[in-house]
Amino acid sequence: MSYIKETIEKLKQTSPAQVEFYQAVEDVLESIEPLLEERPKYREHSIIERLVEPERQIMFRVPWMDDDGNIQVNKGYRIEFNSALGPYKGGLRFHPSVNAGIIKFLGFEQIFKNALTGLPIGGGKGGANFNPKGKSDAEIMRFCQSFMSELYRHIGPNTDVPAGDIGVGSREIGYLFGQYKRLANRFDGVLTGKSLLWGGSHARKEATGYGAVYFAQCMMDDKGDSLEGKRCLISGSGNVAIYAMEKLYDLGARPISCSDSSGTIYHEQGIDLDLVKRIKEEQKGRLEEYLETHNNAEYTPRDDYPKDGHSVWRYKADLAFPCATQNELTAKDAQSLLENGCKCIVEGANMPSTQAAVDLFIESGAAYGPGKAANAGGVATSQLEMVQNASMLRWDFDEVDEKLKGIMSNIYHDAKRTAEDFGHPSNLVLGANIAGFRKVADAMIEQGVV
Ligand code: NDP
Repeated sequence: MSYIKETIEKLKQTSPAQVEFYQAVEDVLESIEPLLEERPKYREHSIIERLVEPERQIMFRVPWMDDDGNIQVNKGYRIEFNSALGPYKGGLRFHPSVNAGIIKFLGFEQIFKNALTGLPIGGGKGGANFNPKGKSDAEIMRFCQSFMSELYRHIGPNTDVPAGDIGVGSREIGYLFGQYKRLANRFDGVLTGKSLLWGGSHARKEATGYGAVYFAQCMMDDKGDSLEGKRCLISGSGNVAIYAMEKLYDLGARPISCSDSSGTIYHEQGIDLDLVKRIKEEQKGRLEEYLETHNNAEYTPRDDYPKDGHSVWRYKADLAFPCATQNELTAKDAQSLLENGCKCIVEGANMPSTQAAVDLFIESGAAYGPGKAANAGGVATSQLEMVQNASMLRWDFDEVDEKLKGIMSNIYHDAKRTAEDFGHPSNLVLGANIAGFRKVADAMIEQGVV
């Protein structure tokens, strides 16, 4: 049995039923195979065996009271995966699908993503199987306070610095920070994604979406092309999707779709972004409401999606930006995108394409930017927020945005150069995985067996 298969088999026994985690590990291990052959020291130092085991996993009870006076209980998680390059850094996800396997897959991805940014940050992730949908503001606050009542003892500006992710935006970060400050009696940069009023960074809210589009711009530049006039399919309508669409419009492209967990909007003349912001950011409503203003747009409810995929990927476009959640783009979806002439796929979400879909993209020679590289703008700007907090300074929007642009370009060129060095010039999965892995593995060796 090959080394990789053996590692996955061992994981299945020691960490049962964590399918998404095995998928993320397999993706990294398969692409770093040529590096492992070239540098036997990684196996001699058991880097893989150490890397797949989180340094620390915290699981805790989150009891809270709903508005009717009933006691509710959720499961809370923080996985401090790897601190070879710096304090653990990665978001918190509040979604009913959250379990230990999902948080581990996200934490594992985060290690390499953070390494790729070139900034001194380790990898971690956390969250809860809490569903913020339909909850009152007071319920969200009580939940966040209870969550932080346990989490605060594990985090710190030099230890572990969480941020947002699905279901955790600026409102939740506010409630979490308030409770941290009350318990720790410290006002420090322990969370990122904070409000601009009290320690947040300009451009953090926009960073993941903008960053993915800057990454796409680098990919198009390399083809001697640009985003100007391009038709773009987007999935999701949350933080990442909204700011990806905003930057696409800025650069002359036309986003023509978006989605939420209930359905997909397709609008040939271009998505009305102000309206999406109003529905999703202000009213926390459903995307279906878009039709009340634009009855010439098409809405496909989730129940009418094709059995083998998502309707958003069945439209004709030049570029695709999956920005919702993991495994939302299947092999059938990939096939349909490619048949419809899509030449560039850039992942705003974490692991949105199934392994079979990724294989198809790579075989087809389409430009494919894996999430680990393309969505790293969020965490990179979080690190810029940490720097501003530590120095008690505030940079303006353009300064942060310029740094973000530079970081995305560096990530792209680092992944591209590495892919070329290993003889697969267009395989950014291989390039990103090797470039990220090498930094972490070398740091682990230098720090000894810990
Ligand atoms: P949000 O909660 O702001 O938005 C998530 C969007 O995806 C919503 O439109 C939501 O629909 C939809 N969605 C979530 N889960 C599902 C599901 N199971 N099926 C279908 N649709 C779903 O999250 P973000 O925009 O912050 O995150 C999106 C992705 O980007 C995630 O994979 C996240 O890990 C990744 N990411 C986020 C970063 C950030 O800075 N925020 C940084 C790097 C990666 P609905 O409104 O119905 O819930």
